Amino acid sequence: MVVFFGPPGVGKGTVAIRLAKEFGCRTISSGDLLRENVKSGTDLGSQAKKFMDSGGLVPDQLVTRVVMAGLDKTDGCIFLDGFPRTIVQAEELAVYLKERNWELRVIDLEADDGFLMARLTNRLICRDCGAIYHRINLTPKKEGVCDVCGGGLYRRADDHPDVVATRLLVYHQQSSPLRDYYRKLGLMVTLRGDTLLNETLAAARKVLVNIP
Ligand code: AMP
Repeated sequence: MVVFFGPPGVGKGTVAIRLAKEFGCRTISSGDLLRENVKSGTDLGSQAKKFMDSGGLVPDQLVTRVVMAGLDKTDGCIFLDGFPRTIVQAEELAVYLKERNWELRVIDLEADDGFLMARLTNRLICRDCGAIYHRINLTPKKEGVCDVCGGGLYRRADDHPDVVATRLLVYHQQSSPLRDYYRKLGLMVTLRGDTLLNETLAAARKVLVNIP
């Protein structure tokens, strides 16, 4: 299993999806799983929604439950995006992996807050396939329409500037301590997330092919 870690907007999802395809693995995104629960009106979704709308973290117990249920359906060839985000989640994941004898590597992507704010507030996402665009740097061929599947593009409610500011603050306060946690375990490599997508992909690919 490879965890893609980093602040919101650094490109974890994009990199994970592209490389998972290349390496024949599946992607699980905790944010996507939570949004699916909100959309389909599950109990868990309605509990998670208020935290997501405000830019805060969903309580560990809820998000862990939804991610582990997703992982249960796989064989461990997984690129995980957005989980863990707290030490408690990382510890739960460690127990889960140990029980299954699955190996863990962490790719940590970093970028400055100013860059992330500009990227997130300009981000557009395909409603149908989740492909990600940028109003200025990565525009679709036809405005408002996904190049990949023809679906409609939308801006996530939590990509509005005030919510993005909260998400960045939450990352620094609650999630970034995980970098020390994984660094000490010798499981993590840090790469820049603010280079061209192809450069970030190449750097991450190099890490993945060198995993013993
Ligand atoms: P994302 O799509 O990764 O940006 O996540 C969107 C929102 O879902 C976050 O702002 C959180 O509210 C919630 N979320 C996603 N993953 C986690 C997690 N591992 N722990 C807590 N909350 C999460």
